[in-house]
Amino acid sequence: MTRSLWIDEKGRATSGGIGESMLALIRELYPVGRSITGPGLRVTVARLSEIVPLQVTEVPSGSRVFDWTVPDEWSVEEAYIETADGRRVVDMKDSNLHVVGYSVPVEAEMTLAELRPHLHSLPGHPDWIPYRTSYYSPNWGFCLTDRVLQSLAEGRYRVVIRSRLAPGSLTLAEYVHPGETAEEVLVFAHDCHPSLANDNLSGLAVAINLAAFLRSRRTRYTYRFVFAPATIGSITWLATNESALHRIRHGLVLSLLGDKGPLHYKVTRAGDQAIDRAAWHVLSTEFPGSKKVDFLPWGYDERQFGSPGVNLAVGRITRTPNGEFPEYHTSADNPDFLSAESLAESWLACLKVLEALDGDARYINTQPKGEPQLGRRGLYRSTGGHQDVPERQLALLWVLNQSDGMHSLLDIAERSRLPFRVISEAAADLERAGLLTPAG
Ligand SMILES: [Zn+2]
Repeated sequence: MTRSLWIDEKGRATSGGIGESMLALIRELYPVGRSITGPGLRVTVARLSEIVPLQVTEVPSGSRVFDWTVPDEWSVEEAYIETADGRRVVDMKDSNLHVVGYSVPVEAEMTLAELRPHLHSLPGHPDWIPYRTSYYSPNWGFCLTDRVLQSLAEGRYRVVIRSRLAPGSLTLAEYVHPGETAEEVLVFAHDCHPSLANDNLSGLAVAINLAAFLRSRRTRYTYRFVFAPATIGSITWLATNESALHRIRHGLVLSLLGDKGPLHYKVTRAGDQAIDRAAWHVLSTEFPGSKKVDFLPWGYDERQFGSPGVNLAVGRITRTPNGEFPEYHTSADNPDFLSAESLAESWLACLKVLEALDGDARYINTQPKGEPQLGRRGLYRSTGGHQDVPERQLALLWVLNQSDGMHSLLDIAERSRLPFRVISEAAADLERAGLLTPAG
């Protein structure tokens, strides 16, 4: 039996309010000091678990994961720079971007010249704070606006970073929605960035709301949502789940989904997988202005999923890609940079891509000699309430013409350039009328 679509034609209307609720979640999680390990990561996962219960796994520091080692856990209590007369010129209380991620502890007095190599600013955007980390080489530093940096007078400064680096664990979180088959679709979002909104929080908000939507629905595939730190987190997850990776048929990495730029689909390493076809078909037919970008072993965790020894069919959906908007990795990537409309559209686009994967199937036309008489079966009449009648009638003819058991609904959608939703609904109408039967 053809499956009913998850989202009807009025999908935009029925998803009303989801953009606002995602933006509210992003605002709530924005001040949390996340890193690749530590308490901020756990707070974030616990909040997501209130929406959909996540299974949390803690992987101990020192664990070997492929060519990497899970690092010591990092936490920071306070970090500031004070002038000799006790005035704080930089304070992590104002923004957790002020401290370089994984800074080792320091408490010292030094001259501006000695302090200077530890200070990072953006001269081109003098009011923005950059985002910097030093995970794997022990160092410390502060990020600040160039305006503040330029205002620092010569003299002595007191520098304090009360951080802790000690054996602990790296937090992985996942939710599995069981489907009719054990074959899986993986949805991955990284959760390791501190106060950055488009980069990481938008992906978390969209992914957890996709999980919430699928939770109450019957699906063909099993859906696995993984929330983990970028790079070390995806590598840790892959290394600790290696024996189960063969179940993953398709996957998506999600991030950067709240800015006002067009949707971008980045293809898998192979470039010609079902996820590539489904994603690009949905984006190109239903989301005007969308762009397709080639695979590149850089960016987010698609490069771990697409490494040669893993080689999973995982593509990526973003709006404006990483590094292509000036606010990227700065304090300007804050909740005000995002829009509820963009978040809602991203959520809907991702859902439609998953829907096209899940609903793809092959059928056989039971009256293949000439065109069957559709009017007699009420098929023209049944489409009468729709705005796009010619498109729907054309879809009926396309599905009948191509349903020889060789072509799937996605094949037909691609060839006809009609939205998958329209082709899928046409197939359901034809099956109800006895003109279509599942192949194989
Ligand atoms: Zn990033």
